[in-house]
Amino acid sequence: TKFTDLSLGPKVLKAIAEAGYETPTPIQAGAIPPALERRDVLGIAQTGTGKTAAFVLPMISMLARGRARARMPRSLVLAPTRELAAQVAENFDTYSTHLKLTKALLIGGVSFKEQDTLIDKGVDVLIATPGRLLDHFERGKLLLTGIEIMVVDEADRMLDMGFIPDIERIFSLTPFTRQTLFFSATMAPEIERITNTFLSNPERIEV
Ligand code: AMP
Repeated sequence: TKFTDLSLGPKVLKAIAEAGYETPTPIQAGAIPPALERRDVLGIAQTGTGKTAAFVLPMISMLARGRARARMPRSLVLAPTRELAAQVAENFDTYSTHLKLTKALLIGGVSFKEQDTLIDKGVDVLIATPGRLLDHFERGKLLLTGIEIMVVDEADRMLDMGFIPDIERIFSLTPFTRQTLFFSATMAPEIERITNTFLSNPERIEV
């Protein structure tokens, strides 16, 4: 498979070429086509396999059409830690450099004010840790009813950190019609249960 076989759109392909990537990694080759067909994806992959681009690339390609509304983000990426959320945000910036997409990074240790201003303006992509996202939600600053695509990254670490109840709550606040891209390095029984509950006929890719 080549990136140009993947229907990602010229602006995303340009950013990939500028990043110096030549061929998709196995998780990218496996996850991007079903994601672009709007299917749910269950990716079983470790860090270092290129899994971040496996969800960011199709997500931004799909979001390139349409426009964000105030307080109603169009997509959501959940990551277990501030550092991981910040890394996803950096990847988003790199790959979306030729698109006009907006993002907000919701992590602890940053004042709510700056994050509120971005959410008020409307964002295409919200990248968040679960606790911080729910803090914003409880403060009434944010609606998740406009979420078209939701990504859970490093679900196994979410489990280790006790975030599964938060993840279930967040899933339940998003529309039933959302597309879900779910990534975990391992499939513990609790992770299997979550995917059975919240993913709809997912394409399963294990690398
Ligand atoms: P990740 O598994 O998402 O943490 O990515 C690991 C590293 O691989 C990152 O530094 C990416 O920039 C890099 N990377 C991702 N996809 C590709 C690719 N198709 N070709 C070369 N490098 C890549």
